[in-house]
Amino acid sequence: MNVLGIETTCDETAAAVVAPGENGRGRILSNEVLSQIAEHAAYGGVVPEIAARAHVEVLDRLIDRAVSGAGLTLAQVDGIAVAAGPGLIGGVLIGLVTAKTLALVTRKPLIAVNHLEAHALTARLTDGIGFPYLLLLASGGHTQLVAVKGVGDYVRLGTTIDDAIGEAFDKVAKLLGLGYPGGPEVERMAETGDPERFALPRPMLGRREANFSLSGLKTALRIEAEKLAPLSTADVADLCASFQAAVVDVVVDRLRVAMRDFATVAGHPTALVAAGGVAANGAIRRALTTQAGEAGLAFVAPPLALCGDNGAMIAWAGIERLRLGLVDDLTAPARARWPFAEPAAIA
Ligand code: ATP
Ligand code: MG
Ligand code: FE
Repeated sequence: MNVLGIETTCDETAAAVVAPGENGRGRILSNEVLSQIAEHAAYGGVVPEIAARAHVEVLDRLIDRAVSGAGLTLAQVDGIAVAAGPGLIGGVLIGLVTAKTLALVTRKPLIAVNHLEAHALTARLTDGIGFPYLLLLASGGHTQLVAVKGVGDYVRLGTTIDDAIGEAFDKVAKLLGLGYPGGPEVERMAETGDPERFALPRPMLGRREANFSLSGLKTALRIEAEKLAPLSTADVADLCASFQAAVVDVVVDRLRVAMRDFATVAGHPTALVAAGGVAANGAIRRALTTQAGEAGLAFVAPPLALCGDNGAMIAWAGIERLRLGLVDDLTAPARARWPFAEPAAIA
């Protein structure tokens, strides 16, 4: 079974072909990703109209490359999976209309995948882990702690009440005059900085629910930066290190709460899983590895190339759904908003 996956919800145009592999894993036959970062960098964030146009310009050739790179023709693909949301609606529409057209012409099943569900299932593609597992999904647009109980069976244990973690990294980078996307830049600067120079707040620490709040942390950092202006390179490094250390503390504390709540809604997890672009952060990965070890859990995080947005995760989610007969028809809607996990009912 070979499934083509198409991803156009944000600023990566991506297409990949994946097949079921050994030990419950997936086998990535091709994985083409074109980042639009250069086109958006001057604006310090993703401009929806620029993103949509860029997707249109490259998507057909990228799909061609993914299919031929897998050693296949379109006629040999068994299903066409596409991220139908959530995301920037212009981009989502381009991917979805392309996928529908291909499905119609080739008479192959269409699988409309939730982009967040695809991030959530990536650990099964890479490591073949079983359900249920505890997921930290952290990207530029989302921050959620989720009990992944099965395909289509997700319970949200916590979410952010303001900024997403990746968004906070991006805003901090912008504030400090670093490049976009901010996460990698802040992490790089933090390497040489002093994480204890600034006593930044740890919002939500000790709260009963596994929710996040990051806007206060970002504001505290801005105030420190304004006090010091103009900033030396060492100041920027220290601010980045102090910020990253605060984020790590918050993540560890929120995860502790989520682990406890997980037991209530899903029993014992098979693993702690990180997904989304923020999972590329080394400091966060190290903290999660330690925490998982203390809880006697395996820590699974996708390799860097599969942390950010990509087509392979969409193709894999397509395989997972296709195996269960969960296919869609040509009326599948494009969705700007599309929650994938039910909020937990925990007293
Ligand atoms: P969505 O939220 O819809 O999944 P997205 O494009 O924001 O969309 P990703 O591509 O998964 O999601 O992640 C991008 C985000 O990850 C950006 O906010 C970026 O700053 C952040 N990020 C990437 N690398 C790092 C890093 N090393 N440390 C911290 N954050 C990072
Ligand atoms: Mg992205
Ligand atoms: Fe994403």
